[in-house]
Amino acid sequence: MSQMQPVRGTHDLFGSDILRYRHILNAAASLSRSYGFEEIKTPIFEFTNVFSRTLGDASDIVSKEMYTFSDKGGEILSLRPEGTASIVRSFISEGLAQHLPLKFFYEGPMFRYERPQKGRYRQFYQIGVELLGVDSTDADIEVISMAEHLFRKLGVSRKVTLEINSIGDHESRNNYKQALVEYYKKHLENLSDDSKVRLMTNPLRILDSKDKRDIAINHDAPKLADYLNEASKQKFEQIKKTLADLGILFKVNPFLVRGLDYYCHLVFEYRTTALGSQDAVLSGGRYDGLTEIMGGPKAPAVGWAAGVERLSLLLDADPKKLRPISLIPLGEAAEMACRNLAHDLRGKGFFIDMSYSGNMSNRMKKATKQNAIAALIIGESELQNKLYTLKLMDTGVQMTIKETELSERLTTIYGDSSTKS
Ligand code: ATP
Ligand code: MG
Repeated sequence: MSQMQPVRGTHDLFGSDILRYRHILNAAASLSRSYGFEEIKTPIFEFTNVFSRTLGDASDIVSKEMYTFSDKGGEILSLRPEGTASIVRSFISEGLAQHLPLKFFYEGPMFRYERPQKGRYRQFYQIGVELLGVDSTDADIEVISMAEHLFRKLGVSRKVTLEINSIGDHESRNNYKQALVEYYKKHLENLSDDSKVRLMTNPLRILDSKDKRDIAINHDAPKLADYLNEASKQKFEQIKKTLADLGILFKVNPFLVRGLDYYCHLVFEYRTTALGSQDAVLSGGRYDGLTEIMGGPKAPAVGWAAGVERLSLLLDADPKKLRPISLIPLGEAAEMACRNLAHDLRGKGFFIDMSYSGNMSNRMKKATKQNAIAALIIGESELQNKLYTLKLMDTGVQMTIKETELSERLTTIYGDSSTKS
C-alpha cells in the first residue's frame, strides 16, 4: 500500500465532518461547564499496564484491540483505547485525592484495532465525563442527566434510548457468576470459541457477546437482577426512582453488562437503531474499586464516554457556518483600500472575506458562493467621499453608509443574522 494513503480505519476530518465535530464538542464543553466538570487532557499514550490492569487482560480491548509498541527506550506503551484508565492514573500520580470530589470532562482521539465500518474506526474521538469521590446515587444521576441534556442540545433525543442495568456489588456479582458458569457449562458445545475462553476468564462477558450462537444461549441465562443483594437492589431502585422523577425515560436491560472488569452497580448505555450494529452511542457506569485496583486511594466513581463519530452520524443537518462579509473593490485604488479595511475589520473580530482577483460581477458571484451575509462595495467615488455601499445578500437591499458608522452597522448585521440562525 502506498505511503500516501491514510491508515485503514483512520479518517481526515474536514468540511462538514469537522463542522459537526466542533458543534458536538462545543455543546459538550458548554454543558460540562453548567455541570461543573473541569476539562482534563491526558497523554494519548501511557504505559500498557495502565490499561491492562484496569480493563482486564481478558477484555476484548486489551486482548485484541490495543495499539501496543515498545519505544526506543524499551518501554512498553499503548495508544489509549479509552479515557477512564488514564484519568484514574492521573488521579493517582498527580495526588488528587485531597481534592475529592473531582469532576472531569475530556475529549480526544482513542485508538482500537477493530474492523473498520460505518461508525467504527481505528482512530475515533470520544467525549466523556468522570465523577470521582461520590458514593451516592446522586453522582450516577448527575452524569446521566448531563448525557440526557447533551442529546437534547444536539437535537437527537428521539433517536436514542437509555438502557440501564445493575451488576451489583462484589458479593452479588460473585454469586451470579457461579450461577452463570453452571448454566453455560450445560451449553458449552454451542458457545462461540471466544465465549468458551470467556467462561474461564470472565463469564459475565458472554452476556455482552455479539455472536449469534451466544445470543441464543444468553436468552435463558440466569438474570443478574435475581442475584443482587439487598444493598445493591436498593441502590438500583433509588436510581430508577430518581430517573423517573426527573422524567428521564429508560429501559432496564438485564443483558447489559459492559465488557470491562472495572464496573459495578450501575451500567448504562444510550443506544440507537440508526447506525446498524454500531448501536452504542454513549456508554458508562460506576467503577467504585478502580482507583484501588490501580494502587491509589479509595474513590468511588461513575462516568461515561460517547463516540463523536456516532453522535455526528445522528445529527440531522450540518451546523450552520458563520457567514462572512465580502469586500468588493472596484478599481486598483479601491483594492488597496480594501486590503487595509479587511486587516482592520478582521482585527475587530469581523469575519471578512475578500477574493483575490476578479471584476465586480465575478466577485459578487464569489460572495454568493461563500454565503456572505453582506457585500461591502468600494469604488473610487466611495473612497473619495468616505462612503461605502452595503448590500444585504438575502434581500438585495442596498444602502450607503459612512465610514465612521461602519463598525456599528456591521455589528448590527451580525446580530440580526445570529438571531435568525
Ligand atoms: P461497541 O460495542 O460498539 O464496540 P464499546 O462497548 O466497545 O462499543 P465503549 O468502550 O463503551 O464502546 O466506548 C464508548 C463509546 O465510544 C461507544 O459507545 C461508541 O460510541 C464509541 N466507540 C467505541 N469504539 C468505537 C470505534 N471503534 N469507532 C468509533 N466509535 C467507537
Ligand atoms: Mg468495542
